[in-house]
Amino acid sequence: LYVDHPLGAGQPVPLTREQAHYLFGVMRLAQGDLVALFNGRDGEWQAQVAEAGKRGGSLVCETQSAGQAVPPDVWLLFAPIKKARTDFIVEKAVEMGARRIVPVQTDFTNSERIRQDRLQAHAVEAAEQCGGTFVPEVADLHRLDRLLADWPEGRQLMFCDEASAAGGLDGAPQGPWAILVGPEGGFSQAERDRLRALPFARTVSLGPRILRADTAAVAALTLWQTTLGD
Ligand code: SAM
Repeated sequence: LYVDHPLGAGQPVPLTREQAHYLFGVMRLAQGDLVALFNGRDGEWQAQVAEAGKRGGSLVCETQSAGQAVPPDVWLLFAPIKKARTDFIVEKAVEMGARRIVPVQTDFTNSERIRQDRLQAHAVEAAEQCGGTFVPEVADLHRLDRLLADWPEGRQLMFCDEASAAGGLDGAPQGPWAILVGPEGGFSQAERDRLRALPFARTVSLGPRILRADTAAVAALTLWQTTLGD
């Protein structure tokens, strides 16, 4: 269970109404039972139910059962598409171990704004589901052109381009990376020209077929993790 609270030996953890409903109403836990907790910073802790109520309750941390995991330093930059598909991309990016998820507005991106809080909540749910202790930050919508103009030093960019004959990531350097996947309409010619000329970018093909943007995000993360992840 994810809690937005510090974890440590003897630390009391108050529960929200939703958490109490889930633990005591759905999972039928009772006083004295153990629950595994994480907050994205302090690893995983076993906590005992101290107080179980319908609308609230509390736990007390006992022992740490896993240290804090930090995934390899890869960001996923993607252009938000339809709601359900955007949710899918965030969920899969968490499962695939992205360190940070950055929605970007490109020339052909349809949405002008995103519900960052909703997507962050999705990231928490995905981390809970896959048993991880790390929750990547879902950033607010960034404009791609501005992001590229202010690119963090030392970070490489894997530009996924279906029109490219280039291969994968063979021989690519280790270190911080970001993966860029475009929207359903792809990138404009101007964006493509700019991306191909960037000194920190490598143009990568994900195979001979045109993948949907959500499939491409998963394929790109898989390629990166198997080539450069640890
Ligand atoms: N522009 C294309 C069109 O309308 O025909 C389709 C874009 S595709 C649906 C969405 C994004 O997925 C692309 O911008 C690209 O980043 C990525 N993508 C899809 N297939 C790919 C492939 N075979 N290799 C590399 N990237 C791919």
